Amino acid sequence: MKAAVYKGEQRLEVEEVPTPTAGPGQVLIKVRYCAICGTDVHAFMYDVAPPGTVMGHEYCGTVTEVGDGVDRWKVGDRVVGGGGSPPPGMLTGTRAHPRFNYRTMGFPENGRLRAYAEYVLLEDWEPVPIPDGVSDEEAALCEPCAVTVHAVRLSDIKLGDSVLVMGAGPIGLLCLQTARAAGATSVYVSEPAPARAEAARRLGADAVFDPLTEDLEERVVELTGGLGPKIVFECAAVPSPSTLDQALNIVARDGQVVLVAIAWEPTPLLTPDWMAKEVKVQASFGTLPEDWRIALDLIRSGKVSVEHMLSDANFLPLDDIQGAFESLMKPSTQLQMVVRL
Ligand SMILES: [Zn+2]
Repeated sequence: MKAAVYKGEQRLEVEEVPTPTAGPGQVLIKVRYCAICGTDVHAFMYDVAPPGTVMGHEYCGTVTEVGDGVDRWKVGDRVVGGGGSPPPGMLTGTRAHPRFNYRTMGFPENGRLRAYAEYVLLEDWEPVPIPDGVSDEEAALCEPCAVTVHAVRLSDIKLGDSVLVMGAGPIGLLCLQTARAAGATSVYVSEPAPARAEAARRLGADAVFDPLTEDLEERVVELTGGLGPKIVFECAAVPSPSTLDQALNIVARDGQVVLVAIAWEPTPLLTPDWMAKEVKVQASFGTLPEDWRIALDLIRSGKVSVEHMLSDANFLPLDDIQGAFESLMKPSTQLQMVVRL
């Protein structure tokens, strides 16, 4: 099968690798779409993915082979690649180590082939079924949507709260919608790239600001009656000028900053500017199985729309993956890019 193998030093090469086969308790998935995640782009940009890695964790496809002892799937079932509940007692992902460090332990599955490839091998508990009413294109964004469901559920958000989402990349655009679904009545967005700002407007942001040309703090504080937003979701992770420092400055007294995006460079903070407001910081990382189920429900019910995030221009063949990663290091016009297998 064809797979995009990371070679180190910002190089992905599409090459022929052996197609896996389903052993006992496993299923083989034929990948249909795999969305390119900002986390993968960072792993490429900062060269932190070990050479030999095949990345890609935001995907959907169909079951093509079922191993011995598997009775929950049959060939042809449509699935999202992830989100299943592990067997009782099994600790997975970040929970597999009590002091999991994403920088030093982020790629524990070195050598495991993931979904920038034609096929992916999974344990039978790992995928979740795609419900009727959710297209394959929509299902490809289930994982990033689940990431924002996780962040919103960890937050202190209450019905009627005002929210600021910093960054309107795929995670910011989904967070805007999941925060709204959770009861936020005003959602403001900060985003400098015009195409992304426009998508935020179309997806129902109450106001969108360009933090490079407007005084974001002044505008948002004014719109929230001089208080600042109750919750800020930091989905940008720009180290300079630091979006985390901006978030802490803008948030309301007793408000909460939820860290969603990961900054790979030191981020300067000037604490006296915002400490007196006694703000809270909540880090959010990854997902739990229920987040995927909720994400699929939100997409099915129309509370989350991926319509303004995906057009034909966003899909690319696996052979073009190197160029896509290079362009996503400095996104200007792209919202979301999806590899079509
Ligand atoms: Zn992701």
